Amino acid sequence: MGLGYGPVVALYTALSVGGIAWKLNSAWWTMTYGKGQGGGGQMDPSEAARTLQAMLQSSVVVALLVNLLVNFFLLVTLSMKTVFFGQLSLVETQKVVERLINYVLFKGLFLTWVVRPEMMQIAVWLAWFSVLGFLKMFQGLARDRLERLNASPSATMLAHIRVYTVLLFVLLFDLLWMQLCLLLFKDTGTSTFLLLLFEPLSIAFDTLQAVIVHGMQLLDTWQRQNLDISAHDISLQPSERSAAGAAWEWRGTVVRNCSFVMDIVSLLLALGHCVHIWWLRGLAFQVVDAILFLNLRALLSAISKRIKGFMRLRAAMTTLQGALPDATQDELLGYEDDCAICKEPMARAKRLPCAHLFHLACLRSWLDQGLADTYSCPTCRRPLFMGGFRTATNNLQRLVDVPTASPGTNETQAQVAQRQDLAAAPSPPLTTLTPAPAP
Ligand SMILES: [Zn+2]
Ligand SMILES: [Zn+2]
Repeated sequence: MGLGYGPVVALYTALSVGGIAWKLNSAWWTMTYGKGQGGGGQMDPSEAARTLQAMLQSSVVVALLVNLLVNFFLLVTLSMKTVFFGQLSLVETQKVVERLINYVLFKGLFLTWVVRPEMMQIAVWLAWFSVLGFLKMFQGLARDRLERLNASPSATMLAHIRVYTVLLFVLLFDLLWMQLCLLLFKDTGTSTFLLLLFEPLSIAFDTLQAVIVHGMQLLDTWQRQNLDISAHDISLQPSERSAAGAAWEWRGTVVRNCSFVMDIVSLLLALGHCVHIWWLRGLAFQVVDAILFLNLRALLSAISKRIKGFMRLRAAMTTLQGALPDATQDELLGYEDDCAICKEPMARAKRLPCAHLFHLACLRSWLDQGLADTYSCPTCRRPLFMGGFRTATNNLQRLVDVPTASPGTNETQAQVAQRQDLAAAPSPPLTTLTPAPAP
């Protein structure tokens, strides 16, 4: 939705309001003056009700009302988009359009082939799906935006909170909507009830997951900012720093496991919905069955992919720290580029087998995104771990086993502290792309 639609929608809303007001006014006029009761006569409640009923039977009034509702809905959507997201990027717009098309197609199919509603019911279903689609689109948009903000180190806390509010709003509204669903459709029979409940339930799960994951990240960013500030004031002891690192690591693990579990639950929910629809329809070997079958297959493969990806990620995360060597000062000075993931300068970095340098936190987030099937360098796509995980694990063992340097060696105290730090807390924060402080 571009920026130019706002005034048009607002105009249409105003026109519909004007039209309805005019209709109401003329009806009131006929009622009070049309029957010769004299100026400003008392309004009879039963007659008012009858007039309203008559008005609702007029197709012009109904058209005006529908127009008002649709435009009001669009107006709310556009305002929310402007207030919470501002201008959408091209990628975001593409994603929203893609999701919207998928949603409309699948729901359209669902209505025409599974529910087969009558004319009046169609309106109810359309309203139902519009509200849920609204929640779904905003949830997706908020997740995209938060991920983008996480990847940009210059994003402020306020920008995060602004988008995070949308997630909370969607969750709250969705829970209320589910409550409404429980109240209104409790008696419609289990099958219809389950069909209706699926979409709000799946939105609730997805949103809850995003709320937890991004809430943790928000907390993480906030703590890091605080730590950065206090680190400027008093020099923190290495033990304190490693303690903070351990806390972050713990939180990262929670986030990773939590999103895994909720992803699986959400996928199983969708699978159940799909099977339910099929069970309702019976096998008829029509086009819609083929679509359902493809959908089912995609869901099953998504579940298996998610499980495999999770196992692989766990293995990679534990080996990443030790498997890759730290870049030396000379390498850092000789490296002309910034970190290619966060575009920030590097004071400390990991050197990949292909000689590209990255922040450790950035590499972790790269792994966490799971963009590639095999873990590879974000710049040149060469494999991240040359000898596979086993060699990498051995490397880690060697790193931990290195005896503490004696005062006689030329290792600086900072290097010793750093190595002890690394051994004590092998994995600082996940997913958050906070670069090391600039030199
Ligand atoms: Zn970086
Ligand atoms: Zn590379």
